[in-house]
Amino acid sequence: STPAAVTSALARATRIGLLVKGGAGLELIGAVRTMAFDKTGTLTEGKPKLAAIKTTDGYGENGLLTIAAALETVTSHPLARAVVQAAENRNLELPVIDNARTIAGAGVEGKIDGVIYQVGAATRLGVTPDGEIADWLAAQEEEGSTAVVILKDGMVIGALALRDVARPDAKAALADLNRLNITPVMLTGDATRVARRMAAELGMDYRAELMPEDKLNALSALRDDPKRSGPVAMVGDGINDAPALKVADVGIAIGGGTDIALEAADAVAVKDRLGDVVNLVKLSRAARRVIR
Ligand code: ADP
Ligand code: MG
Repeated sequence: STPAAVTSALARATRIGLLVKGGAGLELIGAVRTMAFDKTGTLTEGKPKLAAIKTTDGYGENGLLTIAAALETVTSHPLARAVVQAAENRNLELPVIDNARTIAGAGVEGKIDGVIYQVGAATRLGVTPDGEIADWLAAQEEEGSTAVVILKDGMVIGALALRDVARPDAKAALADLNRLNITPVMLTGDATRVARRMAAELGMDYRAELMPEDKLNALSALRDDPKRSGPVAMVGDGINDAPALKVADVGIAIGGGTDIALEAADAVAVKDRLGDVVNLVKLSRAARRVIR
């Protein structure tokens, strides 16, 4: 049966907006040594904005944005929303797209008047930009923006920089976790330069350029790392990270999340505050001290 200290900790957690699925889950959270975080929407606000457009000969800002936004209407990925919103802000009329599809962890593609266009991460789309475009992409990433290319028939015709900012409470929450002797690690599909910059700003480790299945492998590797052996938690917003929430010893969804996240996670911080992850650890440790 569930110890009384755990039952009362569960009740207290619920009162402050922390829904924990069961006593066993609550107990385990206090033993976590490593906490992995999804970047977009979890460590960041998840509302990127178009920050800059790299034009090329023959393609002006509005022409590029029109093509990119038309493609991005097929997905609700946060980056896609930013591009579509930017086109709406400029009152651009979008052409009809045929055969539109998302390329998971890479971007989107579709046809306009029979010609194939793509928008997304250059390396993931199989291109290696050089010269001026490569320099522009690198500079944007150093600034912390996610830089994506626009391809026509596999050739780069322009690029976009999309900027998402860290949640205002992220730095303090990660500092608290470090003080509790928990190692926070960012897991992201974004470019190394972007991840490195944000991880340094927030005071955490990072693993970048991960495909969705790489995130699952990264969780196993963290769990098996002898330097920090112990349960691994995954914190995500539930948008395309449900598999990782499930694979981790403890999955914590932040925000209202989707039904899938609620199903996959062991705990949900309904008030959408990173600080509640810290509160959860503290509640669990207090209950554990009573039991042991
Ligand atoms: P994250 O780990 O931050 O959730 P994803 O795995 O969804 O990132 O995507 C990884 C990378 O692929 C993004 O940083 C971006 O470069 C590119 N990408 C994915 N989806 C899109 C899209 N709809 N439009 C443009 N680029 C995209
Ligand atoms: Mg994500």
